[in-house]
Amino acid sequence: MTQRLTTTDHRRDAAGLHYIYPVISRRAGGLSIGINFNTNNSCNWRCVYCQVPDLKRGSAPPLDFALLESELKHFLDRVLHGDFFDCFGVPEQQRVIKDIAISGNGEPTSLPEFAEAVRLIGEIGEAKGIFPGSGLVLITNGSLMHQAKVQEGLRELNRFGGEVWFKLDSPTKAGRVAINNSLESDDKVLQHLHICAGLCPTKLQTCVLNYKRYPWSQEEKQAYLELLSRIKNEIKLEKIMLYSIARQSMQPEANELTPVPEEQMREFAKRIEKLGYKVSVSV
Ligand code: SF4
Repeated sequence: MTQRLTTTDHRRDAAGLHYIYPVISRRAGGLSIGINFNTNNSCNWRCVYCQVPDLKRGSAPPLDFALLESELKHFLDRVLHGDFFDCFGVPEQQRVIKDIAISGNGEPTSLPEFAEAVRLIGEIGEAKGIFPGSGLVLITNGSLMHQAKVQEGLRELNRFGGEVWFKLDSPTKAGRVAINNSLESDDKVLQHLHICAGLCPTKLQTCVLNYKRYPWSQEEKQAYLELLSRIKNEIKLEKIMLYSIARQSMQPEANELTPVPEEQMREFAKRIEKLGYKVSVSV
């Protein structure tokens, strides 16, 4: 019997592996090979929309390099030369590896051996010949960019043609406290974004949502536009990616979250475009 992967199926055990999870990604438009360092469901943030079950505060545990290497090599072989797409009933038009995405059940840059892990993943992808047709993406909340091992990891990512999707859900500290349970100051966020974009091509990723205690207000939107306008000539951002909450939050606030209507997101995207940025909207 085939097991279908859908755009809302992000189970980390979909392929029965420890570090690797395949996702048919609505954002990427094909197969995204997720790599989850945070197998302990630990993150240094707690976003109200986070879909990680039993999320805990903390860091990724030490990595079993031999296991990651074996899983990634075998998984890529199965996708490239084996029966993966048939077994999972993936539609013909989505039978393409869009990217390897370093993401998962927590903040991936909290991995102690982050730089070495990125190097290993890049080397395997290169040896299997999937770059540059497929991308290499790091999805991060950006909060650990000041760490040397994270910066070294970004250099590695850049070496393999990778890119960073840097999370910024609110332009204000009050918004980030409410949505991300993060205490990062405005200055720190901009410092981290500056470091990141200086080391590797960076896209800004913003989850747009209405949260009862902190709705997506005119003031938030205005502050977001002002921030982008202010940093335009200082920080090179490849794109602004707006996306909505499509998956069920596993946090206590889940019932207080509602998606923002697509027309409102598209209207806001046009305002960002007017500042000179490329923008994408995923609903
Ligand atoms: S940064 Fe990502 S993993 Fe961490 S709490 Fe937020 S959504 Fe979850």
